[in-house]
Amino acid sequence: MRIAVIGTGYVGLVSGACFSELHNEVICVDKDASKISVLSRGEIPIYEPGLQELVIRNMEAGRLAFTSDLQSAVRQSEAVILAVGTPSLPSGEANLEIIEQAAREIAAAMNGYKLIMVKSTVPVGTNHRLQALVASIAKFPFEIVSVPEFLREGSAVGDTFHPDRIVIGADRSEAAEIAAALHRSLTDRIFVTDIRSAEMIKYASNAFLATKISFINEIANICEKVGADVTKVAEGMGYDRRIGHSFLRAGIGYGGSCFPKDTQALIQIAGNVDYEFKLLKSVVDVNRDQRFSVVHKLRRIFGELEGRTIAVWGLAFKPNTDDVRDTPALDIVQALVGLGANVRACDPVALPNFRNGFDHERIAWCEDALEAADGADAVCLLTEWPAFADVDLQQLRQRMSRPVLIDGRNLFSAEQLEHAGFIYSSIGRPALN
Ligand code: NAD
Repeated sequence: MRIAVIGTGYVGLVSGACFSELHNEVICVDKDASKISVLSRGEIPIYEPGLQELVIRNMEAGRLAFTSDLQSAVRQSEAVILAVGTPSLPSGEANLEIIEQAAREIAAAMNGYKLIMVKSTVPVGTNHRLQALVASIAKFPFEIVSVPEFLREGSAVGDTFHPDRIVIGADRSEAAEIAAALHRSLTDRIFVTDIRSAEMIKYASNAFLATKISFINEIANICEKVGADVTKVAEGMGYDRRIGHSFLRAGIGYGGSCFPKDTQALIQIAGNVDYEFKLLKSVVDVNRDQRFSVVHKLRRIFGELEGRTIAVWGLAFKPNTDDVRDTPALDIVQALVGLGANVRACDPVALPNFRNGFDHERIAWCEDALEAADGADAVCLLTEWPAFADVDLQQLRQRMSRPVLIDGRNLFSAEQLEHAGFIYSSIGRPALN
């Protein structure tokens, strides 16, 4: 199939590259000309494991190309994948201006029947509104299907090739079948439903996963007070097949470009039909508070943080990505600086993106974990990058002015750190010292 992918962010670029690997002819479009020129040279503007090889292989095979000319891309394609951003408005509601503009451009570019597959996460009812918008401009027949995306940054390529399921929302079974045919080599678990239900499946899935995270974080907070170990609690809970082990890792909470925005959007979607989604509101509140648990732990050890030097390990919202959108590190670093601390920050790949969004004279940007720890009163681990687990603890201790490690992701074991002479505090686990 000849496919135009509109938007070369985490979703569009990965989907485009994966569909080209499946021998479709893919042309990826972005209005950001600098992204297109980087991509056309075979370079990748984001960090996503396995993506560069995939892009280069398919560019060389002539199945994958990049352009900022949306019109010509749409004209030479039978199907269009819409993967532009749907960020939050200050109210929490999804901002649909970008996707509506892209839909207008697609409509104006059409030169025959097109199947438009919407992968962007959009509130219930949006695809029908896009249908009306395109119909008001287009001079050719078209159909819109909702194909919500479930990939995770950091493992996006693997997730796209091995999805748990593909959800397709369509008004007509023929349109659903074209979309299904495109995805059939990825999985036979293709769930076809109506458009509104498909839109809701995406929000409900993210809200449910966010709920699991906030739930285990609250259990962790109680564990700390009653002397239980949340990692053991989660393990024991997870053996129950009705519960499962995934998304039960206590820590400093979720972040990134999806969970925070999609939970807020679902609260707004409910509010717009006079339904107060009380549970999800609490999930969001718990997540916001949880971010500051490392700051509270530091204050319990040091009292005031004014003039203290705190090393921050990890700025990305999770390992294996350079994405810092709504990362817990942002709130935490801002709080530390606000309390008068000096911060020494590092991250294997996300440092430039983070620094772009927030810089301060009291932040030193460091190459690696040991450099960040130089002269520090404490290390705060905020992202569980594997490289941090491999740090030589004796060297670390020697470089710090006080051996304090606050582990916001439960990456280390208390025995390991305390054996190495650290004052160690993690989330929901009893300290040995
Ligand atoms: P992104 O912000 O990384 O990328 C969007 C891209 O679209 C940008 O490069 C932008 O320049 C481009 N764009 C905007 N308008 C355009 C236009 N008119 N023509 C061409 N290009 C245009 O976004 P993302 O993280 O890939 O997310 C895209 C959508 O997928 C969102 O709705 C998001 O909620 C959803 N989603 C994201 C993820 C994820 O992990 N990032 C996972 C599942 C679903």
